[in-house]
Amino acid sequence: MAPDSPPERNLPPQSVAGAPFWDATRDQRLVLPWCPACAAPHWYPRGFCPTCLSEDLEWRPSDGVGTVAAASVQPKPTERALGGRVPYAVALVDLDDGVRMLLQVVADDPWAVAVGDRVTVGWDPLPDGRHLPTAVAEG
Ligand SMILES: [Zn+2]
Repeated sequence: MAPDSPPERNLPPQSVAGAPFWDATRDQRLVLPWCPACAAPHWYPRGFCPTCLSEDLEWRPSDGVGTVAAASVQPKPTERALGGRVPYAVALVDLDDGVRMLLQVVADDPWAVAVGDRVTVGWDPLPDGRHLPTAVAEG
């Protein structure tokens, strides 16, 4: 890498169980693993339902709307490529679908992100064509 070239983003690792999720992010679609026996989604992707251990799972689209359950501000970048973004907020978001995800929050003022804020999924492009889901603050 040349000294003046921008640092590359770290690529999130992929698992077999999470492949449908990552494939959907290429089209900026949020899908969640669903257990038909429990009639409920779960997060994170894995080869079985964490409630009943069924391996008969489906993927269903999510509206990607939720509520901040906990928030924090990251003052230092977790990788060099994010150096221009600090400070930024990260939050545990309870999606209305019933799962909790850890997401970076896109907000004008990261310090103003608070428990109870409503957020909608957004997409942060990765160099390999996938996207990382983010939470975009409403208003
Ligand atoms: Zn289940």
